Amino acid sequence: MAELTPQEFLDVCLKPDKESDHICWDCVHLKPVIEDSSFPPADIIGWCKKIHFPHYWCVADFNVVKKCYAFESKKKK
Ligand code: SF4
Repeated sequence: MAELTPQEFLDVCLKPDKESDHICWDCVHLKPVIEDSSFPPADIIGWCKKIHFPHYWCVADFNVVKKCYAFESKKKK
């Protein structure tokens, strides 16, 4: 079995509740709303841990982020 990176492990364990075209899904800074979670508002896909640090920025599902100055890819180069 191939070894997972810590990021890949989290992606396997913590399934996101939504799917969308946000670039944020490939970004290390997104903390997604987890499947079957009833706590967060229904209109967000998750929180950005980078923008507005040390506070989180709610990433709305209706306002699709296609480009971002703070994007950092999850994939290793
Ligand atoms: S840094 Fe930009 S691309 Fe990454 S999660 Fe935050 S808003 Fe999305």
